[in-house]
Amino acid sequence: MAEICIRNLHKRFSDFTAVKDSSLVFEDGRFVVLLGPSGCGKTTTLRMIAGLEYPTSGEITLDGDDVTYLRPRERDIAMVFQLFALYPHLGVRGNLEFPLRNEGVARAEIDRRVGEVASILRIGHLLGSSVSGLAGGDRQRVALGRAIVRQPKAFLMDEPLGTLDAEFRELMCVELRKLHDRLRTTTVFVTHDQNEAMALADHIVVMDQGDILQADTPRGIYGFPACLFVAKFIGRPAMNLLEADAPVVRGDTTVRIARCAVAVPRIEAPAASVVLGVRPEYVRLCDAGRGCLGGRVRHVEYFGSHWVVEVRTDAGALKVLADKSARPETGLQVGLEFETRHVVLFDAATQRLLPSETTLAHTSGMRHG
Ligand code: ATP
Repeated sequence: MAEICIRNLHKRFSDFTAVKDSSLVFEDGRFVVLLGPSGCGKTTTLRMIAGLEYPTSGEITLDGDDVTYLRPRERDIAMVFQLFALYPHLGVRGNLEFPLRNEGVARAEIDRRVGEVASILRIGHLLGSSVSGLAGGDRQRVALGRAIVRQPKAFLMDEPLGTLDAEFRELMCVELRKLHDRLRTTTVFVTHDQNEAMALADHIVVMDQGDILQADTPRGIYGFPACLFVAKFIGRPAMNLLEADAPVVRGDTTVRIARCAVAVPRIEAPAASVVLGVRPEYVRLCDAGRGCLGGRVRHVEYFGSHWVVEVRTDAGALKVLADKSARPETGLQVGLEFETRHVVLFDAATQRLLPSETTLAHTSGMRHG
């Protein structure tokens, strides 16, 4: 078990900066997901924690000890890659035993640990098999087994489910989370898949262009995106974003959108221009002439459990998650109601979340190093 701390971590590849002055505490026993678009610096951050890459500046500590420039094998951290290379000549048991043999662990202890890991991952029946004939999910389990058998202080995982098909991926997500609940080993997991992140994480770190934009619980990331980038990146269909007509001041409880007064949580800071955000599930369709805004149904998509209805308003297009019982007809004039406590506001100039009574009541999850 371990607490990993990065302080002012910075990585340049010649004149390109991949990770910018990042500070964060990965608390002992947490499952933390680094999430962001391709090239945002997730893997580089993970590789620096693993010791596979050295930072240009900054510090990494493991349980308080400075490990910034230690070699990977001196850190007692296990890395699980997307393209896991199992040793083909060793078989399943041999692959699981390998890291322990390497460390000179006694035979009886090797047998005990391999048996335990095989039972946790339900691969006991495969111990006598060769790895070449294994299905993708079983190979992944053996790779995971090889990582956990060492009982390292932390796991670092770089898109370990990336090569699996959708069905297996979902299954392995559940298994990984169960495994974590059992072992409680500090885990840092890289993915660009937000569903995977939501399903697995205690905390999600959203990155873009080498910057950490937000580090919070999945609920915090979804409910209170720290900036417009996170608001757009997380959630499908995406959060509705509407530009307000007028500035706001501290204490306001409405903003003007397309000349209509829309109720919002009490605003705690002024802003010259504001963008209102509301997720599609917190918008309700009502009769035309009612609600805070009006519009016309442009498009309806069926998702089995619900409809996604696109409504064109004077402030732009909005998506609404509508009950599966009533299919709104295209062209219908409708009113729209927002669930006020789920409305968030962004300062259009800084793109940052504007403090309001609801955002201030939310306490974010992760400490900065
Ligand atoms: P992906 O999901 O595509 O792997 P990522 O968020 O993990 O993306 P990184 O692999 O950390 O991104 O890369 C961040 C940036 O640094 C990218 O623009 C990448 O091209 C660049 N980069 C990474 N490693 C090197 C290197 N050894 N030399 C030069 N540039 C690099």
